[in-house]
Amino acid sequence: MIWITQWLCPSRHCAIAVAWDDQETTAQHVEYQGEQVFRQETLNQWCGICGGSLHVEHGRTAFKTMEKALPHIKAIEKANLRARSIIGGKF
Ligand SMILES: [Zn+2]
Repeated sequence: MIWITQWLCPSRHCAIAVAWDDQETTAQHVEYQGEQVFRQETLNQWCGICGGSLHVEHGRTAFKTMEKALPHIKAIEKANLRARSIIGGKF
């Protein structure tokens, strides 16, 4: 199954999200990798929209393979990048 891990503020603004296959990795490993990104200080550890603190959520998608999930992931990524360009700021 394909899962999505998101770092969300209390208002559910998503700072980063990672899609992953449970045949290849674990939620704990994905969460650890995400925390490493925050430790490098290339991303804020708070919400760039409202300033809220971030927490991690893991959710199972309806997709069984990354091949099936990827077109949907790319469409969401495109929409989020468009929203980011409108809102601006450092994320
Ligand atoms: Zn927020």
